[in-house]
Order: sequence, then C-alpha cells, then structure tokens
Amino acid sequence: MTTDKAQLTMEALASLCKRRGFIFQSSEIYGGINGFWDYGPLGVELKRNIKESWWRAMVQNRDDIVGLDSSIIMHPRIWEASGHVKGFTDPMVDCRKCKGRWRADQLPETKCPQGGPHEYTEARLFNLMFETNVGPVKDASTVAYLRPETAQGIFAQFKNVLEVARQKVPFGIAQIGKAFRNEINPRNYTFRSREFEQMELEFFIKPGTDAEWHEYWVAERLKWYQSIGLPEGHLHRYVYPKEELAHYASACVDVMYDFPFGTQELEGIAARGNFDLSRHQEFSGKSMEYFDEETKQKFVPHVVEPSAGVDRIALALLCEAYHEEWVPTAEAAGQPPQPTEPGQPPPQGYEARTVMRFAPRAAPVKVAVFPLMKNKPELVEKARGVFDTLRRRWPAFWDVAGAIGRRYRRQDEIGTPFCITVDFQTLEDTTVTIRDRDTMKQERVAIADLPAKLAATLDAA
Ligand code: ATP
Repeated sequence: MTTDKAQLTMEALASLCKRRGFIFQSSEIYGGINGFWDYGPLGVELKRNIKESWWRAMVQNRDDIVGLDSSIIMHPRIWEASGHVKGFTDPMVDCRKCKGRWRADQLPETKCPQGGPHEYTEARLFNLMFETNVGPVKDASTVAYLRPETAQGIFAQFKNVLEVARQKVPFGIAQIGKAFRNEINPRNYTFRSREFEQMELEFFIKPGTDAEWHEYWVAERLKWYQSIGLPEGHLHRYVYPKEELAHYASACVDVMYDFPFGTQELEGIAARGNFDLSRHQEFSGKSMEYFDEETKQKFVPHVVEPSAGVDRIALALLCEAYHEEWVPTAEAAGQPPQPTEPGQPPPQGYEARTVMRFAPRAAPVKVAVFPLMKNKPELVEKARGVFDTLRRRWPAFWDVAGAIGRRYRRQDEIGTPFCITVDFQTLEDTTVTIRDRDTMKQERVAIADLPAKLAATLDAA
C-alpha cells in the first residue's frame, strides 16, 4: 500500500514539511543558518503532542516522578563538574582541498565528504558547548555556556526537589527543554541540529539496583515509542559493549529507529552510577547524600537516565507517517487505496495522494469540519456549530474552500484522522458524514454521537 521506506527521499519529506508548515529553515529570508530549524503551525502541534505524551507517561501518570524546569544558562562550575568543559569534544579536521570542516570520526575513508580528493589536517578536539558571557563585561570570569543537555539542571537541583517532593528513593525528576551543541556537521535534515529539545529523566535508585532499573526503563521507553506510532519492527536497541561504556556507567542502550538515511539513535538510556551527584558533591562542597529511613544508611543515589530528543522523534514520526499511494478519483465509490509504483502514472480512474498516517495521538489536527458548499448559509452555520463543539475538545480545522475531494486531500497531507462534512441531508436528519483518513470510507453519524465516536479513536490510550 505504501511507498517503500527505502524509496522515501528526505527531499520529498522536507518539501512536504515546508509546503504544509511543519518545518522551515531558520532565518530562511537571510539564506538560512546551518543546524537551526523552525517549526511551523503544524510542526509545533506535532512537537507539543510528543512532549505532552512523554510528560503524561513519565510524570502525570506516575507516583514516583516529578517535574522540573531549570534555566538554560547555569553556573559554569556545573559544566566543570559534569566533565563537559574538559571532555565534551568531537575530533575535527579541515580539508585543505574543499575547505570543509568535518568530524574526524565520521569521514568516508577514500574521498572527502564533498566527493573530491581530500587533504585533511591533523584532528583537533573541538568543544561542542556554545559559550556566552553573563553581564556587560566580556572576559574569562564571565564565561557561561548554553546547556548541552538538560540533565545537569536536574542533578544540581536534586537536594531542593528531594526536600519538597516528599519522594523516597527510588524516584525520578523529569525535564523537557532546549539544549545546544555546536555540532561540527549538522546533517540529515533536523536529525543533527545545533539547537534542539531534550526530554530527560533522572531516576534515582539505591546502589546495587542499577541493572534491574535499567532493564525496566528500556522496556518502558520502547513501549512509549510504540504508543506514539513507531512500530516495533522499525525500532531497535543498541546495547553498548563494555568497552564502549563511559568509565562510570554500568549499562547503556540506545533506542534506534530505521530512518530513510539509516538506523539512528532516538534516545540513550544509561545507568550512570552515582557519577553526576558525586561530582557535584565534590565541586560544590554540598552533600548529595540521601538518608534511607528503612536501612538507616546514607548514600549518594545511583541514577538511570533515559534521554530522548524531541526533534529526532518528530522526524521519525514524519518519516513513519509519510505515504504516497493511488486512490480512486471518485471517492464515493469507496475503493481502497492502491500501492504506488514510483515514477508510474496512476492507472485510469486513480490519482496520486500523499497521506501522513500519524497515529491519532501524534496527529497535529485531529478532525476537520466542512460545509459541503460555502455559499449556502444554512450549511455553513450548521457546520460551524459542529466545529465549535469539537474544537473545544480536539485541535480542529475549518475549511470551506474548494471541492470536498480537494479538501480531503489537503487534510490527508497533514495527517488529519477524520473529516466531517455537513451536507443537505444534515439539515433534514442532523446526521453528517465522517470520513476516515486511512480507509477513505465515509459513514453517516448523528451529530449527537460525534464526540463519542471520535473519542473512541482520538482519546484511546
Ligand atoms: P549522537 O551520538 O547522535 O551525537 P548523543 O549520544 O551525543 O547523540 P546524547 O548526549 O545521549 O546524544 O543525547 C540524548 C538525546 O538527545 C539523543 O538521543 C538525541 O535524541 C538528542 N540529541 C543529541 N544531540 C542532538 C542533536 N545534535 N540534534 C538533535 N537531537 C540531539
């Protein structure tokens, strides 16, 4: 039924994303700025759905996790303690031939990434943190950093949260927010950006329980990815072998997704021991110990950290949703969509459609409402009433322009699961048609039954 994943070009997706307002190049009117992206009206809804679904699963639906929103710029000592000032580096080379600057560990062996012969300089270590100055004086004493991860804000507030949250270890602190990395080669559309959003959990545990909690979180996170519409078959775990683990970590698993450009990381889930809290204890001189009332023992908690990127998940959802297919021109005939053969014109009686098959939970718009004709005030008024009722509950879209078939296509392209049309029969028996994005089938439903009918799909857990 679908375009094969391998045939999906990122250009086709990027073009749809721009055309329909999911993602724009940042500062486009000035020629853009490499590694930065803006999310348009639909992209912002998609990202909100991802973040809300994560927050609900990780914080609101649990007894043992609380939230935090820490500042982006923090005391620079935080990044000394965390190891970022010394160690958050990538090896970088310059190519004397093409004048490009590349990550030394990602170079093809024979050619320069530009395709020509190469002549590389020696690799130098490049720190990925963006530097700035706090206050009016620009010197070494005012240097601060845009955070390269949200996690350290959580560690730095561990004691304050512990005091107010009435939680006992094991418990977690979750945070969603922007992070910044001065990546040497931003690439693969939004996949590797210089400004992005992270969703991170630090789950504090008793020493010695690391392996079981790590396993628990890997399983939980994989379930969550499926719940927002990434099928099990396109998700993978990369288990770090011992020699690839950081010296303080006892386990790490990356959740990977089959992007058209390769299988790549969406999230890292690491058992980090008590490295971070111990380092903050050492650098700040403040105790990070926890007193366990049951055992009457003091310890610095260990931590399991699931750390995900919102932008990468948004990109995975866009890739997963994107389908091209042939559909019968006369929709009322109720024929099912046909598989597309790329490059072939559709057979007679069919036309091509692009459809974003988002899971309802991720879809930016959940339902669209149309009056059959825009110049019949009684239809428009009735439809507007339906729209006003539904929009209170779900993100809804109002469209009066063009033939109904065209309006359906526009909604297909942005992944709206349901379209509702108010026609002349509505004026007689207060029923409307409800059309399903995926099957393209239409059904007549009483207006009064619409909320329950939609809720069965849109509010499903
Ligand atoms: P990579 O190996 O791809 O550079 P990483 O292992 O350095 O990623 P982490 O430090 O584990 O990434 O960050 C956690 C998550 O933050 C990643 O799984 C990813 O989803 C997201 N992330 C990290 N760097 C970027 C980036 N440059 N652009 C977009 N998202 C990112």
